[in-house]
Amino acid sequence: MITSPENIIVLALDVDGVLTDGTITFWGLPHVFQNESKTFHVHDGQGISLWQKAGFHVVLISGRNADCVSIRAKELNIPYVYQGSKDKIADLARALKKIGASPEQTCFVGDDLGDLAVMRHVGYSIAVGNAAMEVKEIANVTTAALGGHGAVREAIEHLMQASGTWANAVDSSKTEPTQQ
Ligand SMILES: [Mg+2]
Repeated sequence: MITSPENIIVLALDVDGVLTDGTITFWGLPHVFQNESKTFHVHDGQGISLWQKAGFHVVLISGRNADCVSIRAKELNIPYVYQGSKDKIADLARALKKIGASPEQTCFVGDDLGDLAVMRHVGYSIAVGNAAMEVKEIANVTTAALGGHGAVREAIEHLMQASGTWANAVDSSKTEPTQQ
């Protein structure tokens, strides 16, 4: 199924390699306390805030599990966060049930082979600029920006330009600051 980008109301995002550049830094003491760091981009954060402010929804689905993802999601008021996901289609279905939307109304942004199935399942899909070749081949659009370097912002602008909501979002940000 392919949905026109103007009909998308849910943006579902992989995390590593999409919202981040894919690098993972481990820190802490082995066998005592270990955690991991990732780097997020403020341009993506600003885009997510504008997207949600316009009444649209964001879902994060990650195969990994990290505190920093929960912190970033909370900062950006993203309520639908699925970490340690073994089945991205099933976790997306859980979020869509809560939102009251369908896969046809969803755009998934991915970067690697683990995203192929869910990208085929939704109405519209976007690959980040440095996604695996197989991901780019099935995506409706590939961003110029790389994962973790504004690809999500570019995806959001693409969808909001299509639905004619981007200009209003830009106008509103001239007077009302949003979370980045
Ligand atoms: Mg990934």
